[in-house]
Amino acid sequence: MNVLVVEDEKKTAALIRKALEAEGMTVELLHRGDEVVPRATAASFDAIVLDIMLPGHEGLTALRLLRANGIATPVLLLSARGEVDERVNGLDAGADDYLPKPFVLAELIARLRALVRRTAGRAPAKMNVADLTLDTLTRVAHRGGASIPLTPREFRLLEFLMRAPGRVRSRAEILENVWDYTFDPGTNIVDVCVKRLREKIDTDGGAKLLHNVRGEGFVMKAEP
Ligand code: CA
Repeated sequence: MNVLVVEDEKKTAALIRKALEAEGMTVELLHRGDEVVPRATAASFDAIVLDIMLPGHEGLTALRLLRANGIATPVLLLSARGEVDERVNGLDAGADDYLPKPFVLAELIARLRALVRRTAGRAPAKMNVADLTLDTLTRVAHRGGASIPLTPREFRLLEFLMRAPGRVRSRAEILENVWDYTFDPGTNIVDVCVKRLREKIDTDGGAKLLHNVRGEGFVMKAEP
């Protein structure tokens, strides 16, 4: 596991490095916020530990720039402030987890491991089926040069179907992955959402991409 640690307090940074290396992780240290994007673009990391108060760019600015540059590496934010709004701002800016200072090193290690496990199967930032593109960072779809705004539910549905093009997904699978339902609510919410999504992405002229497979479910694919 290869971790980029961005922390300007040299003593704290050294302690984190020592603790992570003792766990068999490879660690690279940076002390400034404006070094994050160039480094994360040049090399590939499994996770980034990012302090909020940094010289150069603040941590949240660095985080927004990372995401704007299409770098989806999981980020764990560290903050001395500990206020709820910082946590919310961090998660809005694209952080995957948040740890207030002071923290116990064992907790940092546990959180990092959980973060990498959780995001290991994460899809790449951009997915394609034919001329339809879905950007999972900005959560906007594009087709034929036009951007297609999606509701959060439509985004989750489209992402789920695009993750495995050509694979038929049953209504039960969709309910579980898009609505977090492990039971059948006995309504047609899946069909209604599919219909709305299809009206947005399968517009006039282009090939039909979202197909209904009778008695089985739904599939995204280019050919009929
Ligand atoms: Ca700091």
